[in-house]
Amino acid sequence: MRIYLDHNATTPLRPEVIEAMTLVLREGFGNPSSVYLEGAGARARVEEARRQVAALVGVAAEAVRFTGGATESNNTVLFGSLAAGDHVVTTEVEHPSIVAPLAVLEEQGVTVTRVAPDEDGCVAADELAAAITEKTRLLTMIWGNNETGSIQPVEEVAEICRARGVLMHVDATQAIGKIPVDLGRVPVNFVSSSAHKLNGPKGVGALIVRDFGDRERVAAVPPLLHGGGQEKGLRGGTENVAGIVGYGVACVLASSEAAARTEQCGKLRDRLWQGIEQAIDSVRWNGGPGKTLPNTLNVEFKGLAGEVLLQALDLEGIAASAGAACHSGSLEPSGVLLAMGRSVEQARGSLRFSTGWGIDDAQIDRVVGLLRELVPRVRQAEAP
Ligand code: PMP
Repeated sequence: MRIYLDHNATTPLRPEVIEAMTLVLREGFGNPSSVYLEGAGARARVEEARRQVAALVGVAAEAVRFTGGATESNNTVLFGSLAAGDHVVTTEVEHPSIVAPLAVLEEQGVTVTRVAPDEDGCVAADELAAAITEKTRLLTMIWGNNETGSIQPVEEVAEICRARGVLMHVDATQAIGKIPVDLGRVPVNFVSSSAHKLNGPKGVGALIVRDFGDRERVAAVPPLLHGGGQEKGLRGGTENVAGIVGYGVACVLASSEAAARTEQCGKLRDRLWQGIEQAIDSVRWNGGPGKTLPNTLNVEFKGLAGEVLLQALDLEGIAASAGAACHSGSLEPSGVLLAMGRSVEQARGSLRFSTGWGIDDAQIDRVVGLLRELVPRVRQAEAP
């Protein structure tokens, strides 16, 4: 039996999700835009899922626009709200789906200020506030980091942006379903989310859009995909009805299990760290216990190459990750860890373990036991 400790890369689908999706695939093939019975049934399913997604994060259903995942949501906001001459504030610890579009926009004449994190990967709200200028149109920041789990002060920054009249976008893809995300208390205009990070299907996500009375600026964000005007004009294309339904069910499960999930993931993660710390010398927790997502543990094993340890673990039946999964296959050290002040060697020696549904104490203990054997072996093989 393999042990899957890479829930920040993607998560297994819950049986309830598969069941709901299967029913739609078998019987609910209608196009939600069609006006006859089959269409109306599909529309009703999409709208029910919209309410379920909205309820998980405390917004009105009308605020939810379905997309093809968080990468698309992020690109929609960035390309839709920024143009040559604009200024945008962000952090040095963003996901590639923010980093890459901002690099393109920079070439097109957008000015980007990237605020550095501290050594635990957290960015200070007052430093973000200080980066805002007269020309700042948007502030975009991640909520919980995919690599280290570091949690950013989104609530505080949201208040600052509102007071300064700056649009704000949050990439909450990793935070939703892991920590309480109550957008009723956090006045941000745009929030990105993805179903496959919370036991839903891949290729479906949401962009939450709220104008707080500033209708003109928010409504000015055009679609990335022009077409039939679906999703209130923000995303052309026939809706992925089965995926959206699965997303809705995943959100219902996340809502009802929220507290238990956070507690259980935290216990497993802490058990893993305590085991590693006791069994292996020269290790460091990148991010630390203070402000990280409860399921995420990023560990530096000094004096080895993370990819080698990762392969050894894989052969023993354990899935973990070196750097961001989106980077896997490349030997580039993690930009997030470098931004936190780690050297290239330190970043290369770091692995991410992320817990989630289906993981138990016995699996964690087996991973610790294997690391106890494998780490000295890999270190010896690597020694000069
Ligand atoms: N943002 C963050 C923080 C993520 O972790 C991910 C997934 N790796 C994405 C965005 C992209 O999500 P998707 O796979 O749905 O495009």
